Amino acid sequence: MILLQRCLFKRTIQHLYSRSPDTAKSLVSGFPAALLGGRRAAGHRSISTPPDVRERTLVAVKPDGVQRRLVGQIIQRFEQRGFKLVGLKMLQVSEDLLSQHYCELRAKPFYPSLLHYMTSGPVVVMVWEGHNVVQTSRTMVGHTNPAEAQAGTVRGDFSIHVSRNVVHASDSLEGAQREIQLWFRGKELLSWDCCDQTSTCEV
Ligand code: UDP
Ligand code: MG
Repeated sequence: MILLQRCLFKRTIQHLYSRSPDTAKSLVSGFPAALLGGRRAAGHRSISTPPDVRERTLVAVKPDGVQRRLVGQIIQRFEQRGFKLVGLKMLQVSEDLLSQHYCELRAKPFYPSLLHYMTSGPVVVMVWEGHNVVQTSRTMVGHTNPAEAQAGTVRGDFSIHVSRNVVHASDSLEGAQREIQLWFRGKELLSWDCCDQTSTCEV
């Protein structure tokens, strides 16, 4: 019963967030983190953090990034920036999952080769959490076409061609929510408190 209530509560808040973020923020400010995020990690005390600090996004190291042993460097960039890792797994993606993930691109001429590339080997998929993480991740990842990506971005530093651009990051709050639900089950995501939380953000 409690689980059902929690689930309904989460859905309501997520829905409200997509319509009216400010109203949602003011509503949830008094609720404990566990009601809003995934599971709480064992041994960690949960303090009440503002919802904007709990924004989440999906980042994936694509098969070329895994093959080229770039996983560690990519994780390091997000850790260094101050974001919190709340979910991580390595998997061989099915065409079914990918077709849902890239549903908006189905009509594009490059779609068949994109599917082939993305299923050519394992990917490492992650959920990162923190203030403005969706937009900041996109900036850190860089332009879709590496030829136009700034130096200092993941794509600008590690890739040269649009068909092998190493990494994925969700492009909007709604997109992030959809992709996280597609790639992860709720119990695979952890809500935990970073000891440096008050040093990276005003909470
Ligand atoms: N892509 C490609 N050729 C193109 C455009 C995109 O192979 O001309 C691939 C590339 O891997 C890209 C992915 O399709 O990352 C998804 O495209 P999108 O426009 O969503 O770019 P992203 O959000 O990844 O920057
Ligand atoms: Mg995209």
